Amino acid sequence: MDVLLPLRFGRGRGRGKKVIMSALEIPTTPSLPQDPATAATPERVTAVENLHPAMPYDRLERVEAWGMNKAVLSYVYRPSTVEGIREVFEIARRHGLKVGLRGAGRSYGDASLLAENICLDLTRMNRILDWNPQTGRITVEPGVTVRQLWQYIIEDGWWPPVVSGTMFVSMGGAAGMNFHGKNNFKMGPIGDHILEFALLLPTGETKVCSREQNAELFYAAIGGFGMLGCFTRITLQMKKVYSGLLSVYAFSTQNFADIIREFEARMDTADYLVGWIDCFAKGRALGRGLVHEARYLHPGDDPNPAQTLRVENQELPDTLFGLFPKSLMWRLMKPLANNLGMRFINWAKFTAGNTIGNRKTVKQSHAGFAFLLDYVPNWKWAYKPGGLIQYQSFVPAANAERCFTAQLETCQQWGIVPYLGVFKRHRRDDFLMSHAVDGYSLALDFPVTARNHRRLWQLTAKLNEIVLEAGGRFYFAKDSTLDPKSAEAYLGQETIERFFALKRQCDPEHLLQTDLSRRLFGDRL
Ligand SMILES: Cc1cc2nc3c(=O)[nH]c(=O)nc-3n(C[C@H](O)[C@H](O)[C@H](O)COP(=O)(O)OP(=O)(O)OC[C@H]3O[C@@H](n4cnc5c(N)ncnc54)[C@H](O)[C@@H]3O)c2cc1C
Repeated sequence: MDVLLPLRFGRGRGRGKKVIMSALEIPTTPSLPQDPATAATPERVTAVENLHPAMPYDRLERVEAWGMNKAVLSYVYRPSTVEGIREVFEIARRHGLKVGLRGAGRSYGDASLLAENICLDLTRMNRILDWNPQTGRITVEPGVTVRQLWQYIIEDGWWPPVVSGTMFVSMGGAAGMNFHGKNNFKMGPIGDHILEFALLLPTGETKVCSREQNAELFYAAIGGFGMLGCFTRITLQMKKVYSGLLSVYAFSTQNFADIIREFEARMDTADYLVGWIDCFAKGRALGRGLVHEARYLHPGDDPNPAQTLRVENQELPDTLFGLFPKSLMWRLMKPLANNLGMRFINWAKFTAGNTIGNRKTVKQSHAGFAFLLDYVPNWKWAYKPGGLIQYQSFVPAANAERCFTAQLETCQQWGIVPYLGVFKRHRRDDFLMSHAVDGYSLALDFPVTARNHRRLWQLTAKLNEIVLEAGGRFYFAKDSTLDPKSAEAYLGQETIERFFALKRQCDPEHLLQTDLSRRLFGDRL
């Protein structure tokens, strides 16, 4: 519902007519940091129609960033076949428009937005094309979601080797960003488990890529944020599991030095490691948090694998304590979505985890452990009307404590404290536009309000300096605020030049663009 919202109902072209906003629409606050020239306002509808009089008015929709911090108008096409994607490229060419690829629209910022051009939405390309339960090899269309994937394979004793914190992303979007999970230090990003893909170039040509065939394109299109072509078919290797449960050990850590020490000590034995950070804690407690370490069960550990591997026994419950519908929980969170409320929630969570919940081991389903962020449906609505941004930076292990301490101190000094902090361990990978380092990432959720937005953008610029000084990197899937200089500084000139060269080969007319690509690389991409 929050992804693509029909702009209006009505017949005929809108010029001179009253624009009827859809009842489904959730308008963002106009004073937010949106480009007034392209923000999705009723006034822009007529302007866009005037700009492209030959485009079908009924395809014009309001398309929103997942973090609700930006919304634009686009002509949305949802083809269900490869031929249909080709046709969209042709339409764009005919009308002098550009095309932004969009999966499930779960990137926090503008990575799958393209204002006032064509949004090529791949969610209807959602077929599982081939599955071999003996080898764990699966071939999917790009719109297949992580949810579809795990639900399809789990009863055969397989689980996706890498998943994100939400199951509602598409595999095309996962490959486009080369997403990582809580096991990045061990399993690498999803790209490490992609065996082959078919990439439809805007020229109409299809390139089949693997580590052996078109290898350069393989390593650039994965993580290539939809700039080189459209994944139309992806083959992946799944991971064998012997139970639907994980063994999860929870414990508290007292500051950044402590959590890093614990992660380093556990990296060789843990299958998953994730930390939650109380960003309000100060002084010697700065960086305090809770860690969850999970391990797969070995064959024979689970007496009832056929049962624990059933989809029904993985699903997240719809109610809290069997009573309260979780779909309403965001409304309960809303009154607490302010500095005071969040300071209290962070304190209460840490205190509970540091006392009654400390050093406890439980058995938890794969889905329950992996998709914690799906536990409360639409929790982001607690951040309405301004939405949120996530700021995730990746820093080499040796500099992580210093860098993240400086980041949180800066946030606290500026009086803009993140409401949520998530800490992960990573390893390097071989993909051209990689966001990963041999080190740590800290993902920080900030509310966006009409009052704080300007200072928030300034704050992230300050945080960028700290990250770059520490040799760190950024991640387009989470980004809303990065500037061209910082992007160039972390990627390096040579990498950018190699990527641009591939762009010239695959997309000589620069048909594929997004608001993110325009923000960071202008018309060079
Ligand atoms: C609650 C939440 C938790 C998250 N947790 C994690 C996490 O733990 N780890 C992590 O790494 N990320 C995480 N993310 C980010 C998310 O995994 C990425 O943004 C992912 O790319 C979203 O997939 P999507 O299908 O929604 O793609 P979109 O956001 O729609 O698109 C992402 C990019 O892929 C491109 N793209 C989409 N489809 C195709 C295609 N068929 N061919 C080529 N390019 C394409 C788009 O142009 C865009 O650049 C999280 C996001 C949310 C909202």
